This record gives sequence, structure tokens and C-alpha cells, in this order.
Amino acid sequence: MNYDVVVIGAGAAGLMAAATAGKRGKKVLLLEHNKTAGKKILISGGGRANFTNLKVTPNDYICSQRNFHKFALKEYREEDFINLVRSYKINFFEKKLGQLFCEVSAKELLSMLLKECEKAGVEIHYGARGIQITDQYKISWKDHSVNSEKLIIATGGLSVPTIGATDFGQTLAKEYGHKIIPMRPALVGLKVNGTSELSGLSQVAEVKVGKFKVKEDVLLTHKGLSGPAILKTSLYWEKGQAIRINWLPEENLDELLVQSKKTITQILNSKLPNRLLDFLVPQNKMPLNEIPKKEINKIKENIRNFEVLPSGTEGYRKAEVTAGGVDTRDIDQKTMESKLSPGLFFIGEVLDVTGQLGGYNFQWAWSSGVIAGRSV
Ligand SMILES: Cc1cc2nc3c(=O)[nH]c(=O)nc-3n(C[C@H](O)[C@H](O)[C@H](O)COP(=O)(O)OP(=O)(O)OC[C@H]3O[C@@H](n4cnc5c(N)ncnc54)[C@H](O)[C@@H]3O)c2cc1C
Repeated sequence: MNYDVVVIGAGAAGLMAAATAGKRGKKVLLLEHNKTAGKKILISGGGRANFTNLKVTPNDYICSQRNFHKFALKEYREEDFINLVRSYKINFFEKKLGQLFCEVSAKELLSMLLKECEKAGVEIHYGARGIQITDQYKISWKDHSVNSEKLIIATGGLSVPTIGATDFGQTLAKEYGHKIIPMRPALVGLKVNGTSELSGLSQVAEVKVGKFKVKEDVLLTHKGLSGPAILKTSLYWEKGQAIRINWLPEENLDELLVQSKKTITQILNSKLPNRLLDFLVPQNKMPLNEIPKKEINKIKENIRNFEVLPSGTEGYRKAEVTAGGVDTRDIDQKTMESKLSPGLFFIGEVLDVTGQLGGYNFQWAWSSGVIAGRSV
């Protein structure tokens, strides 16, 4: 069998690329090793998929080649995807910070993408296990073998292996001479010893690592730290690096903690959960005027510049994304085609482009998928 285009991976990027190429009259085959498409879409955003953000900028992404992702994000914008969602009458809402979620379920989004593929005449083959690529391009699996002029790799990152994540794309890229930027779990909780007693607490705090700074919820878990502020921080965190937390970013502690008969608990109990206060300030039940000034300064420092040295992340099992991947320096940013192997394309998370928490990773999947679908 001969096809114009074979796409491997029926996730966010692969479905989008297949539908776009099919609409242009290309004969497209989409191969997926799972029995169904878009498993990650279904579990995303707590089952309601944060499918894009109202304000997407290149700065919301990290990539070793600065601005590689700019062209695709400009060519197929957040408004374009929002218009597609609207055309299917899928209701959505802004949760916070521009993050758009399906009102009912991510299932609606997946149905929309499958419908787009159907309308475009895309053939989908599920259960395609053990795919092998030879020449340019013979694609074989089980007892099937097809030829295609163009091959799009959309097999994603390594996170959540239980729903079928593999390193197929990155391994294939290496075979075709591509470099791989070292991969690591990102948008993930950080492991910290000694937090189990604080498990369940949540506090809006300012978290800093290197030059990155974010003010959002920090969640304490029995394994360490999580919540949006920590997931965002994990994108920039490197092993061995300390992170700093200001537990009361809105308060002026120099004005609040002045010599008086009041205890720190009396002053701060409406601002910090008691268990966290006990942990940060063991002397919190003593009147302030009985605590030496030097000690008070240390207490203030502990609240506004608390240092944490995570031992690691919660790993790919829990990570929303994989940072790193196929080095974009050998990919044409206007087409997503390999500069080393004509006719071979890489899109979505398999590439070294990682978005922040908030709908940015799906937007990258849509944008890069459309660019490749238009180029093949
Ligand atoms: C729990 C969770 C929640 C998330 N929530 C959000 C969110 O709300 N908003 C957001 O923007 N991002 C979110 N993400 C990230 C987002 O899901 C991914 O960035 C996005 O799905 C990447 O799209 P992709 O098409 O590149 O890869 P994927 O969607 O992972 O698709 C890859 C496809 O390739 C298939 N595949 C893999 N290996 C092979 C192989 N060897 N042979 C054949 N097929 C193969 C997979 O089964 C899969 O169907 C979340 C991720 C997780 C894990």
C-alpha cells in the first residue's frame, strides 16, 4: 500500500497533523499502538483538558534553540484552535490566568479531533505495535507493510508510561542522525524529606529557582511539594538546586513582627495554617518581646526565604510533560521537517519544546501539528 503521509501517534499533535494533511487531499494513514486515540487528552486537566491559553507567547516555552517555536505558534494561534472548538459547539470556560477548559469533558475535544480526521478521509489503524521504519519510508508492523513519501512522528514524551508513552520518536530520531536534548520529567511534584506531617496543607506562596519566580498555590504532600507553583518551578529546576519559598509574599513581616506581648501565632494565624507555622517557627507561642531580636530576624528569614533542597522529582509516572527531546536545531521551524532526512517530520512533545502549565503544551501540539500537516 502506498500513502502520501503516514503519521505515527494518534495523540494531540498526530490527530491535528493527520486531519490537516487529509483536508489538503493527501492520502493519510494514522498509526497508533494503543487500542484508542488520545489517551492523554482524556486524562488532561482533570478530565476537562486545559486545551489552550488566551495568551500564548514564545516566552511560555523552553527550548534549547531560542524562538524555534515562534513561527508555528504564530501561524496557528490559540484563536484558531478556539474557533475550531466553537465550530463544534463545545462549551468551555476560563478557569484562571487565561487557561481554557472544556466545560463538560475532554471526551468532546477528542471526538472533535477524530471527526476532523474522518472528514479529511484519514485512515486510522489502532493496535499498531512494534512499528519499524526502513528506507525513506517503509513502515512495517505485525504483518503489515506500507510505503509513504512523508512520515510524521508524533509519539510524544515519556510521561505516564501506563497509558502508552514510549521513546519511539526519540530513538528513531537518533537513528536518522538527530541529537537528543537530555530528557527529564517536568510539570511534576518535587520530592522533599520531612513533609509528611504537613501533608494536605496548601498556601499561596512565591517560589523561586534561579531566575524563575512564580506566585501561586504550593501544596504539601506526604512525598514533598506540589501544586501549580511547584509544577511550574519544576520546569526550571535542576537536580542539586535549592528552591526558595516566601510563604507570605503579600505581607510586610518587618511591620507585623515588632516587639509586643503578642505571640507569632496570634499575629499570623489568619495568614498561615497553624501546622505550617509550628513547622516554620517553633517559638511561635512565645510573646514576641521575649524573643531576642536576632532570633526574630531568623524567624522572618525562615518565613520569607525558606530554602528547600528537593531530592528529585516524582518522575515520569506523575509528570505532565517531558522536557528535552529531539534537538530542534536540525528541524526546519517553518515545516517541522528534518534537515537531515527529507520527508521526515517531528511534531508535539517529542521535540525539545516544553510549555508552562496552563494549556501551552496542547497549543504547541496543535500548532506544530498544523504546520506539519500543511507542509507534507
Ligand atoms: C496527567 C496529564 C495532564 C495534562 N494536562 C494538560 C493540560 O491540561 N493542558 C496542556 O496543555 N497539556 C497537558 N498535558 C500535556 C499534554 O497532554 C501533552 O503535552 C500533549 O498530549 C502532547 O501531545 P503529543 O501529540 O505530542 O503527544 P501525546 O498526546 O502523548 O500522543 C502521543 C501518541 O503516540 C502514541 N505512541 C507512543 N509511542 C508509540 C509507538 N511506539 N507506536 C505507536 N504509537 C505510539 C501514544 O499512545 C499517543 O497516543 C498533560 C499531561 C498529562 C500526563
